[in-house]
Amino acid sequence: MSDYNQFEDFDPETLAIRAGFERSQNGEHSEPIYLTSSYLFDSAEDAAARFNGEKSGPVYARYTNPTVDLFERRLAALERGDGAVATASGMSAILSTCMALLSSGDEVICSKDVFGSTTGLFSKYLAKFGIKTHFVGLADINAWRAACNSNTRLLYLETPSNPLCRVADLNAFGELAREFKAKLVVDNCFCTPALQRPLEHGADLVIHSATKYLDGQGRCLGGAVVGSRADMEEVRAFLRTCGPTMSAFNAWVFLKGLETLSLRMSRHSENALALALWLQEQPEVEHVNYAGLPEHPGYELASKQQSAFGGVLSFTVKGGREAAWACINGIKWLSITANLGDAKTTIVHPATTTHGRLSDQERGEAGITDNLIRVSVGLESINDIQTDLRRGLSCILAE
Ligand SMILES: *Cc1c(COP(=O)(O)O)cnc(C)c1O
Repeated sequence: MSDYNQFEDFDPETLAIRAGFERSQNGEHSEPIYLTSSYLFDSAEDAAARFNGEKSGPVYARYTNPTVDLFERRLAALERGDGAVATASGMSAILSTCMALLSSGDEVICSKDVFGSTTGLFSKYLAKFGIKTHFVGLADINAWRAACNSNTRLLYLETPSNPLCRVADLNAFGELAREFKAKLVVDNCFCTPALQRPLEHGADLVIHSATKYLDGQGRCLGGAVVGSRADMEEVRAFLRTCGPTMSAFNAWVFLKGLETLSLRMSRHSENALALALWLQEQPEVEHVNYAGLPEHPGYELASKQQSAFGGVLSFTVKGGREAAWACINGIKWLSITANLGDAKTTIVHPATTTHGRLSDQERGEAGITDNLIRVSVGLESINDIQTDLRRGLSCILAE
């Protein structure tokens, strides 16, 4: 039985607002923040029983906190997982999953199109402890199959990918994982459970950077892992010992974020689609990457496994780095920042920021060209967003 059983049959819009919350002694109507590092025991016997696990109940905030627990239950309900473990950041969610599930000698296959620090975690740090990672292009599942062997433990990917919006067939990757008795881990940061639930398409674990759309207003850092009860126990055991736990305050902010998640994701998706179509008409624009465009290679697949196409798109301008920079510098109020998933529209030049540490060859292979610009489309009026981008694009012709 799931922790959110009372709401099992409810729709996501209701789960996001109600799941996991129980009437407390005080009867408060909104979710409280519990700021306490430790908890009282009734007696020495009670303390001993809670410490050795004979009795359930809170012990210490590195292990559990009621506000964090509630965020975990609600996110698990939304992703349709048995449970969730909240972490201090998205990166610590990925680290905790790896530390819990991998040992020296194990191998990972990771998409080349993943968040930069994710690549660094696998290639620089896990490699130090004898865990080997093969980086493979997201689109070529046969290359993934060729890289699989009896040591393969995890297949790791993001879909749609950042910043080119490539789409992976989750069911096919799930089958491949099962064939090799490996686990499929999907970073669902771009879609959130409002648009895509990877566990329903064959994934074993879902990763979140709550910092992005779950917060939705760019204020707090946090992350989470969602999955089976057995896997969550392993991840939680790592957290209890090593400590990258989510703070109660941040969990409270994310709970507020979840209440408006589906409304926001609909509006982000609507604005992004409108902007993608508009960008295609602009003379300075060469190509637009957005899975919501019917000519995008991932359109059919995204239409099947997502309920909308999300808020992030990218486009290339005619010219090189100078043209891209001229466009970014020509805008007046859109935020030049690498963050995404914010109510505020953000714009960034991936080749010299988020993907700046890659070698020229790696960037070329990843398709991050010098004339590429990424936009995380916010919740402002689409007219105003277009007017500002028009200002930026006009600066290219002026060059
Ligand atoms: C931001 C991000 C992360 C890392 O999350 P942090 O909260 O910044 O640690 C992981 N994956 C994706 C897709 C991201 O966008």
